[in-house]
Amino acid sequence: MNFEKLKTLLTEQQEPAYRLAQAERAFYIELADRWEEMAVYPKALRQRCAEALPWKELSSVHVQESPKGDTVKTLFACADGQKIEAVLMCHQDERNTVCVSSQIGCAMACTFCATGTMGIKRNLTSGEIIEQVLHYARLLKIKNERVSNVVFMGMGEPMHNYDAVLSAIRTLNHHDGFNLGARHFSISTCGVVPGILRLADEPLQINLAISLHSAINEIRSSIMPVNRAYPLEKLMPAVRVYMEKTNRKVMFEYLLLKGINDRPEDARALAKLLGPDFRLAHVNLIKYHETEMFQGTSRGERVAFLDELRALHVPATHRITFGEDIDAACGQLAVREEQGRVKQGLAAVRAAKARVLP
Ligand code: SF4
Repeated sequence: MNFEKLKTLLTEQQEPAYRLAQAERAFYIELADRWEEMAVYPKALRQRCAEALPWKELSSVHVQESPKGDTVKTLFACADGQKIEAVLMCHQDERNTVCVSSQIGCAMACTFCATGTMGIKRNLTSGEIIEQVLHYARLLKIKNERVSNVVFMGMGEPMHNYDAVLSAIRTLNHHDGFNLGARHFSISTCGVVPGILRLADEPLQINLAISLHSAINEIRSSIMPVNRAYPLEKLMPAVRVYMEKTNRKVMFEYLLLKGINDRPEDARALAKLLGPDFRLAHVNLIKYHETEMFQGTSRGERVAFLDELRALHVPATHRITFGEDIDAACGQLAVREEQGRVKQGLAAVRAAKARVLP
């Protein structure tokens, strides 16, 4: 719902100010699904509003549920026809996490990521981000459950759409509305330093995750082009500033790519990079879902890497992955129509990898 447009419409109709608050309540608290559910509006007003303004800016066009029933991936169409994806992950401890997209495509071109092969099309509006969350909140309401966490780990680099991302978080956090606590939001960045520094100054206690994937510049640059602009010597001081200003733990995401970043020397480099300076750091090891580009690691190899890190006193865990069977896991979000382009992109990335990696 575009509430700015609704406000204008209600003003033009000379409706009292409380009409806007009624719609906001229905949208964010009662989780109404359509104009017809706005029983507090007189029928004529409801019809005029429905003709002028859609209740939802996103429409669900395809849904995939994992056979285990713990993951739902939804393909949404925006009003301009562009497609995005968002994923609901239902944890055994009753937490329900929504992984949202912040952009259509992504400019960062990480070589292990399906979205990275699409290129950037446009930023999402805060309304489009909010609606991904509300879509799942409506589904969960049927089971008497609610969204407990929102992670910006879907399509796009959230720091490249900073204002819309923060605006969406502020709206969903508002105590008179959806009322999800700030600590239940996590922004994951591939390492955009200005965004990290900006987030450090926000009054909201939002979690930060860094997609690190290697503690060696040469390797990181070969799989994440962002590292050429913001190498580890720039990234890590920015993370330190964030930790000092917020006193919050920072997650370092580490996708294990066989033969690329999973060797004992990679674990040692990671331990050295984090060192005692980063007492609030925590490493999340992530299983890579094998593609034509890279091989994943076996469970035994991941456990061995985890043991290596722990022996080096690095706080680390092995993240449970959801949705592997429906391409909803980390690095797998890319809309269906893009699959052909993704394949072409992978071929280009393969060629690039051959140039940069021995
Ligand atoms: S991993 Fe994230 S930042 Fe990198 S290309 Fe994919 S969506 Fe973009």
